[in-house]
Amino acid sequence: MPQRQPPEPKQSKPAEAAPPNVPGTGEALCPVCSGKGTIAGRKCEECDGTGIVIQGIGGA
Ligand SMILES: [Zn+2]
Repeated sequence: MPQRQPPEPKQSKPAEAAPPNVPGTGEALCPVCSGKGTIAGRKCEECDGTGIVIQGIGGA
């Protein structure tokens, strides 16, 4: 006769960690200010002073 196995304790898995990078977009160092965010002491207009530009992958 089959033996009844005790029920396995259900492990409550936390939601899978979402990847930090959202597919479709990518951050890249601003090519204009080389990621510094400033050019000659002035805010880089390309990246708005962040030094990082968001590049769309695959086009919009
Ligand atoms: Zn910049």
